Amino acid sequence: MKATSGVEDPQVRRARGPARVPQKGQDTQIGVARPVRTLELVEPTVTIPAPDPLREITLGGCACVQIWVEGGVSSQGVVSSRRRGRGTMKVVGLEWRRVRVPLRKVVKHASHARAESENLIVSARLDSGAVGHGEGIPRPYVTGETLETAFEMLRGWDLDRQLGAPSSFEEAVDRLANLETPARAADPRGAFGNAARCALEMALLEAFARGFDRSIGEALVRMAPPEAGLRLNPTTVRYSGAITAEGVWAERIAAWKMRLYGFHQVKVKVGVVGQNDPERLRRFRRILGKTCDLRIDANEAWDVSQVEERAQALVPFGPTALEQPVPHAQVEVLAQLRPRLGIPVMLDESLCGWGDAVKAVELGLTDLFNVRLSKCGGIGPSLALIGLAKRSGLGVQLGCHPGETGLLSAAGRQVATRIADLRYLEGSYDRHVLAANPIRQDITFGYGGRAEPLEGPGWGVDLDSETLERMTLDRESW
Ligand SMILES: [Mg+2]
Repeated sequence: MKATSGVEDPQVRRARGPARVPQKGQDTQIGVARPVRTLELVEPTVTIPAPDPLREITLGGCACVQIWVEGGVSSQGVVSSRRRGRGTMKVVGLEWRRVRVPLRKVVKHASHARAESENLIVSARLDSGAVGHGEGIPRPYVTGETLETAFEMLRGWDLDRQLGAPSSFEEAVDRLANLETPARAADPRGAFGNAARCALEMALLEAFARGFDRSIGEALVRMAPPEAGLRLNPTTVRYSGAITAEGVWAERIAAWKMRLYGFHQVKVKVGVVGQNDPERLRRFRRILGKTCDLRIDANEAWDVSQVEERAQALVPFGPTALEQPVPHAQVEVLAQLRPRLGIPVMLDESLCGWGDAVKAVELGLTDLFNVRLSKCGGIGPSLALIGLAKRSGLGVQLGCHPGETGLLSAAGRQVATRIADLRYLEGSYDRHVLAANPIRQDITFGYGGRAEPLEGPGWGVDLDSETLERMTLDRESW
């Protein structure tokens, strides 16, 4: 059983204040790789990032900015003292959309099969004209949410009370880290609304980062507990490959693709009725070779009475982790079963929020957390979970939902490239999975699953407003 004395609620930690707070002007120290140039304005020399979407000209002693147009939100503005970090900024517009995301092929595992995904995309606009975007993936079988409940939640979110008008980027980040999801009576796990919170937090974080001319990296440093192991400088990362449940030949081809593409880690979905998992793993191991790190995900498929037998039948093929072997309702049985399975256990569907995580640590239910930004409520809560896992001696996978668009891929990349010692990394499958993607850049990982840090501003990607319009099924705004 794991020790519990080190478990601290993230809100208590935040009350103590952040451990490392980079100040304005320390961009180079936290590894922001974007181009920077110095402009002579009316006031003394100031440093203003010059990302591509912004074109600046001097006019009458002040710098005018052509603010980009995207997502139906546009504006022009003047670089005022507010954009340089003084004065206050306030949210003046919020828009949320139901977006249909077509997939290139059916993604199938033991719980579900999907040919498309319906995602939530939120855009936030500040009174300075700065705009940010975020995404959430409401899944009824994960956090209990639907697009309808997410819309309802966003209608009633009390942003005025919770955010007010921050006068600095630090203040905005601190308030976002404490952004409270509207309470719901029948929600003992505290996870209902996590996808909506993720989309909203992402949109606001990007808007404030753009508004105050600061980087997402600075926000991550401020939000993360020290134990999360946040790197000051982002580095190259490697994503895992994944083999979903398909026919024999399609799976064989998928395994060969993984090998030829040079993946060092591959996840295999198991537990689908009618499939012989020991045969499948034998086949995959033969194709992928002995050195490939193979892990399995049962997506809650195994009954408690079968878990030991099923897991041990797969041990000879050397899986390094077994993700969510039993339904969430039966997860406590893992306290007794886990040491006998012969494969380290990772919680996914049973790891949606702080309450789940503390329970898992206290009862000794798991060896690893699967942290997914949308499932876990966004950047701040996810960093808190990563910190708890590391403090408790557990491993961490930064995962993703099938059907995430490039927005969540970008947010995942911003986190992944700054977190040291991630055991596994999933995501950025964009070009391989999505038939439509509402961002302009292609940030799909490259050979071997390798991917570089994204350069700013904001998440490091630009929304493609025309594609987003075509994908939009429904929207609301204020
Ligand atoms: Mg899973």
